[in-house]
Amino acid sequence: TDKQFVNIHMGIKNTLKMLEYKLRKANIEFVKEFDFELPEAKVYPGALNQVWTNIIDNAIDAMEPNGSGILRISTAKDGNFIKIRIIDNGPGIPDDIKTRIFDPFFSTKEMGKGTGLGLDVVTRIIRQHNGTVKVNSVPGNTEFEVCIPIDND
Ligand code: ADP
Ligand code: MG
Repeated sequence: TDKQFVNIHMGIKNTLKMLEYKLRKANIEFVKEFDFELPEAKVYPGALNQVWTNIIDNAIDAMEPNGSGILRISTAKDGNFIKIRIIDNGPGIPDDIKTRIFDPFFSTKEMGKGTGLGLDVVTRIIRQHNGTVKVNSVPGNTEFEVCIPIDND
């Protein structure tokens, strides 16, 4: 399938709808900071939904044990790119594992709860879009920042 020009917000909203039950069960508050003038971007829509799912799923897992989780998602245009930030107020990613979280099969979750493939898949899909994904984490604030070009082949 080919890339298509789509509104990134639609995919994020659809993903949140899919995760609604899990978000509600974990009592997570959602804060939306969307740039309403965001241009459409040329992407693989289904693949990108997998990116949002995997990142948000991890955020929920991180916040769930503490309660009072806040999930924040912001979008912005940055030159020829669209920048999406997914932020949670969970415990954060310890420094000694920060470099390993994108490795296939790396997981800190109990047996059966994580495959360790979520962020590996994210990396591969973002690469197909010639984009980047970065993580910034301190205790109480973890941000995954995805940048994708507005137009690319
Ligand atoms: P899995 O979710 O199956 O463990 P992932 O590739 O999705 O595999 O994530 C790898 C690891 O990265 C997780 O096990 C967890 O330790 C860490 N991680 C990812 N996102 C977060 C987050 N938002 N907060 C804290 N740790 C995270
Ligand atoms: Mg995961």
